[in-house]
Amino acid sequence: MNQERLVSNLTEVNQRIADAAARASREPDEITLVAVTKYVAIDEVLAAIAAGCRSLGESRPQQLWGKAKHVEETLPDAGIEWHMIGHLQRNKVEKSLDHSTLIHSVDSLRLLQAINNAAAKRDRPANLLLEVNVSGDQSKHGWHPAEIGEALTAAGQLTHVEVHGLMTMAALGGGPDVSRRNFRELRSIFERLKPAAGPAFQHLSMGMSGDYEIAIEEGATLVRVGSALWEGVTA
Ligand SMILES: *Cc1c(COP(=O)(O)O)cnc(C)c1O
Repeated sequence: MNQERLVSNLTEVNQRIADAAARASREPDEITLVAVTKYVAIDEVLAAIAAGCRSLGESRPQQLWGKAKHVEETLPDAGIEWHMIGHLQRNKVEKSLDHSTLIHSVDSLRLLQAINNAAAKRDRPANLLLEVNVSGDQSKHGWHPAEIGEALTAAGQLTHVEVHGLMTMAALGGGPDVSRRNFRELRSIFERLKPAAGPAFQHLSMGMSGDYEIAIEEGATLVRVGSALWEGVTA
């Protein structure tokens, strides 16, 4: 593994985050980099932590559980927060709650209810984002923009979920203009829902390696970056 390359990739991503924030007259500390570790093994995860990453993201539940458990055991005091960013099935909710601080990808009422039940059992509210399919891609998960208000209302009636905001993925291969349009739409849905949402409703999870700077210009508070960090790191 090329650790030096990881450090320089991370430095560059952080610089680009700061530059994008400045262009939008925002403070860089309003934006959290979620380092997506789905392409790499545990050694690279530990290297990312050594390089300064504190928020890590996984899209597959089993990968999340395994890596998070290893980090909890080897670096219990490192202050690592794991984000579940991929599609989650109901039978994987309990273990995912054990190993993550925020679930970005809540895309159905049945999943919301399963999360609420599991969180009630452990007597601790679950932190989540509602995923919105703003691109309209059939292959993507998430609520249709017209349904998201109802989803938020339904979540508000559950006792053990706390909705921290919204998440989306831009249309695949649409280029920067399409990404910007998708992010702008999520932002406008967010602003429209905010007055009726709880005080925790503060976050917009949008932007990946190809478009995180655009996402920040459009208001992202969480950017999920994978490949830009790992380029040239694994042989
Ligand atoms: C893989 C993944 C990312 C990171 O994508 P990159 O383009 O590699 O930065 C972000 N969000 C989700 C939901 C993902 O599955």
